[in-house]
Amino acid sequence: MKPITIIGSGLAGYTLAKEFRKLDKTTPLLIITGDDGGFYSKPMLSNAFALGKQPQQLQSQTVEQMAAQLNAHILTRTMVSSINTVTQTVRTNMGEFEYAQLVLALGAQAIRLPIAGNAADQVLSVNNLADYKIFRDRLTQAGDKVNVTILGAGLIGCEFSDDLASAGHTVTLVDPNALPLAALAPVAISQGLQTALTEKGIQLKLGTTASQIYRRDQALHVTLSNGESFVTDVILSAVGLRADTRLAQAAQLHTGRGIIVDEYGQTSASKVYALGDCAQYTLDDGSQNTMPYVAPLMAAARSIALSLSGQPTRIEMKLAAVLVKTPSYPVALIAPAAHVSPSGTWESENSAGVTTSRFFDEDRIMRGFAVAPHSAKSRTTLISELTEAQT
Ligand code: FAD
Repeated sequence: MKPITIIGSGLAGYTLAKEFRKLDKTTPLLIITGDDGGFYSKPMLSNAFALGKQPQQLQSQTVEQMAAQLNAHILTRTMVSSINTVTQTVRTNMGEFEYAQLVLALGAQAIRLPIAGNAADQVLSVNNLADYKIFRDRLTQAGDKVNVTILGAGLIGCEFSDDLASAGHTVTLVDPNALPLAALAPVAISQGLQTALTEKGIQLKLGTTASQIYRRDQALHVTLSNGESFVTDVILSAVGLRADTRLAQAAQLHTGRGIIVDEYGQTSASKVYALGDCAQYTLDDGSQNTMPYVAPLMAAARSIALSLSGQPTRIEMKLAAVLVKTPSYPVALIAPAAHVSPSGTWESENSAGVTTSRFFDEDRIMRGFAVAPHSAKSRTTLISELTEAQT
């Protein structure tokens, strides 16, 4: 019997496998992964210091434990190089494998900035546990209290900055925007975050980018596009991720910013599904979006598991706030969808030290919110308001 084959052992691949096994204990399951197949929760990478965790403690299950738990065959350190949707086979460095149904859970690739200098290749990025181990090793090699420069003050850059600063490191955060979290949050919330990060001792260098990085005398010399320069020990790039569409494109599946899937999570090829950071979902209103967060991949996993087991089921994307893990100023938000954001406005209020912002489209319908510092109660209230506004 040909197996159901999942490419990828990140949260998307493994969550899908777990959901599928709740419905079907026996159909053969093959998981092919480029990494070591251990289970870890990626969001913990950017608050590992706050959690008091060493990198090796972040892996909660080994590949052997996952294989036993899922009754699956897991091929580790195996890269899929091509997919043939006609013969229903995938080619890998370990040979060719037939599939009955295929799931792409390929994740995303870190975007690399073009930076000049003989140490531009020293810039690290963290998008998996192996990257994180390398990053922590660099910190350890550089000493107890290290000068760390983070490129990109988006969600992940802000989280790492806060986490590293709380561990006693000296952090410089560089971003081309005028405020941190600018792509997701309204000005009032971004300003609050800027104040909190600055009070924490993080140096924000905004409205500029790193243009050159040279290594001299063991130190890294960074020059910014505004002409400023400084010395640092370790540089982490958090400028963003791009959905990994390479395999899908080569197999002639429809792709956009991600691998395009319909309301059921199915790609343009029959018997091939996609979810997680590599997918571009089709939402109920017909719009399409990548949604590189945990809650959407869980919703997709539940539906795709049902579809794989013979009960075609639409993905029900519930409204879920993104929690920015910056303990200095914890933000919760649901950003408005890309297609409504240019035509609406944020309205913000401050009460008892809590900033609440609501996004209204041109018809005055609420389409998003942000709140900081947030609580379970404030999140629930705002999600109810948003749900009511959209029904
Ligand atoms: P990945 O975890 O990237 O998995 C991709 C898998 O595909 C890997 O196993 C890889 O080896 C495999 N693969 C790729 N190509 C091939 C190939 N050709 N052949 C074989 N295998 C292949 N989201 C939240 O909701 N809340 C948070 O607080 C949060 N914090 C985050 C903090 C950090 C530091 C980061 C980086 C992300 C965070 N996210 C958060 C996002 C969330 O973690 C991701 O959306 C999610 O983990 C993506 O899972 P995935 O399985 O799609 O991708």
